[in-house]
This record gives sequence, structure tokens and C-alpha cells, in this order.
Amino acid sequence: MVVANHRNAQLIINQKHLYHNIKMATERLNAGTELFMVVKADGYGHGAVQVAQVAIKAGASGFCVAVLDEALELRAAGIVDYPILVLGLTDPADAAVAAENNISLTVSSAQWLTQVAVMFNDLAEIKPLSVHFGLDTGMGRIGFQNKMELTQALTTLQANANYFNFDGIFTHFSTADSADDAYFQYQLTNFKNLMTVVNPQPKYVHVANSATSLWHDYTGSNMVRYGISGYGYNPSGREIEQLPYSLEPAMSLETQISYCKQVTAGKSIGYGATYTTTQPEWIGTVPIGYADGIPRNLQGFYVLIDGQKCEIVGRVCMDQFMIKLPHELPVGTKVTVMGQSGDKMISADDIAEYTGTISYEILCGFSQRLPRKYI
Ligand SMILES: *Cc1c(COP(=O)(O)O)cnc(C)c1O
Repeated sequence: MVVANHRNAQLIINQKHLYHNIKMATERLNAGTELFMVVKADGYGHGAVQVAQVAIKAGASGFCVAVLDEALELRAAGIVDYPILVLGLTDPADAAVAAENNISLTVSSAQWLTQVAVMFNDLAEIKPLSVHFGLDTGMGRIGFQNKMELTQALTTLQANANYFNFDGIFTHFSTADSADDAYFQYQLTNFKNLMTVVNPQPKYVHVANSATSLWHDYTGSNMVRYGISGYGYNPSGREIEQLPYSLEPAMSLETQISYCKQVTAGKSIGYGATYTTTQPEWIGTVPIGYADGIPRNLQGFYVLIDGQKCEIVGRVCMDQFMIKLPHELPVGTKVTVMGQSGDKMISADDIAEYTGTISYEILCGFSQRLPRKYI
């Protein structure tokens, strides 16, 4: 998709805020524990390479991504001296590319290791592939579920020691952001139980996402996979209010009124004619829409102009939406869709709450058509 540079709309990424959030997290780490910044999905929409560069300054010692291409993007941008872990599963056919680029892959079955070993056996020259074993302790997504599967994979690994470097083992919590920690404790117990068959342990043992790092004891592990809170958001939304340090949202979305008109009473606005004026009203048009990642069902929510709320009227279109203005305003008037305006602030949590989702989906949903501007 092209970047719309000839339109007055941009995501503004505040690097000081990114730095603050990541720095606070690195300062709180237990001794001997490292922070890997999670920059999957283009750094939750903030720009993976730019976020990674700030994270390095703030003390991150590695990165996590979801897919191999995201790791290659960081390597191509010159981030070559830091470990990168691909958290999702990778096709065995792509393992050689990972090995060549010194990228660690996640392992979830012994069969995958065998497939990679067979392929590596056919290659003249190959660097060992660094691997992290995933343990499914209750997330139900990927990873070894029991000691038998895990032991079998460890045996396969040892039998192919020349092809693999056993670099890490980890699990992922599904409720670390919940006020009720019963299921977290259940997963932690499963993890400890599975770990009894892992001897010797690899360099990295890791269990903590942002929520775990903020609210739980993760003693026994030595790396944190820090994602959403680096971008300035509370992983629980509003469920757990106490935070050990302030989180500063790094992303704002600013645009301008592209058209302004007065309509008479009884006129409808937008697709489906879902809004009808009850009196003469000033209506502003904003030049971004759901193709930019503005949720289509944001009708009834608001944007900010000069610290004042302006209601979104009518359905959000693909490339534009309409707002109700207090009075006539010139084309070019600044519109804050997300971020601070005067003494008011719209966060990704506010938008998420209104649309029935979480901040993560709002942030990574902003499309590549919106330019990212770094301040
Ligand atoms: C995305 C992801 C994270 C980061 O989670 P946050 O809640 O954003 O901190 C950590 N670990 C795994 C396995 C993930 O998929």
C-alpha cells in the first residue's frame, strides 16, 4: 500500500515516551534478567525499526517478532548484534534463512526438528540454528503440552546438536492481565513441572509478557518479552489500575478538516443514512477512514478539536468520516483522532472500549497508508 504523504493525516510517534516506558521496565528487572522488546506487527503499528532503535537506547538486549520476515526487516535495517526470536512457528523450509541471519526460531514439535535436521544435512555449509522451545502450559496455542513430548524433542535436539543451538525455553500466560490470578498460578505450576525434565537449561528461560512483568513474580526466568507497555498501554485495559511506573502512550493520530459545510435540519449523513440532523448543523469531513484503521463502527464516538469533543456522525467510510462541529471552522483545522488536545486525551483504550476490543488491535490496525512521523 502507498503511504499517503499528500494528505493531511499522520501517526505521530513520540520517541521520548517509548524510551520512558522501556527504560522504566529495564530499571525494574531482577538482577541478571534481560528485556527483549516485542516489535511484531511493525512494532504494534509504531514502526518496528524505529522502536527497536529506541529500545536499544533504553536498555533492551534483544527483540521478539511474530514471523521470520519481521526479523529479517530488523537485520536488513542494520540491527545485527542483537538476538531476535520469532515467537510464531516457521516452516522448516525457512529454517536455513533464519540460521544464516542468526535469528532464533520457536520449536513446538520433535518432528519439526527432524525435518530441519534432514534439510540441513543436505546443505554444504550451515550455521547452527538457534531455537527456543515453546511450552503450552494453558494458552492452548503452540508449544509442548507434556513431559513426554518435551523429552522426545530434547532427545531429537541432542541427537542433532551440530545443527541446533538450544538457546531458550518459554511459556506464555493467557491471564497475566487479569485481577484474578488463579489461572496464572495454574500455568506457572505447569511450567515448573515441565521444566523438571529440562537439564541442562538453555541460556534464556522466559515467561513474562508486559502484564507478567508489571504484576507478577516471575523469579526463575531471566528474560522479559515486553510489548504493549513499551508503547504506553496498560495490558489489562482498565481492569488492574495500579502500575509500578507511569505508562505514556507513544502514538497519536492527527488529521485536519478537509471540508466544512452547513446542512439544514432533516439531512442525513453517510452510508446507510444512520444520522439525521435535527437542526441546521455544521458538519466537518475528515480525510481518513476504515482503510486507515479507523474502526467503521466509531459513529457516536468523538474526535478532539482544540480540546473540545466533536461527535462522529454517520458511519465511518473507507477513506473519510464526518463530525459535528460547534460552529463553522476553516478547512485545515487540526483534528485529533487519538492523542492529547488541550486538556483532553483520547487513548487507544478509549477507542477500544467504544468498539469492543483492546488497545493492541487499535494500535496495530492503523494501516500503512498513514504516514508515521517521529518526534
Ligand atoms: C505478543 C507476545 C508478547 C507480548 O505481549 P504484551 O502483552 O504486548 O506484552 C509476549 N509473548 C508472546 C509469546 C507474544 O505472542
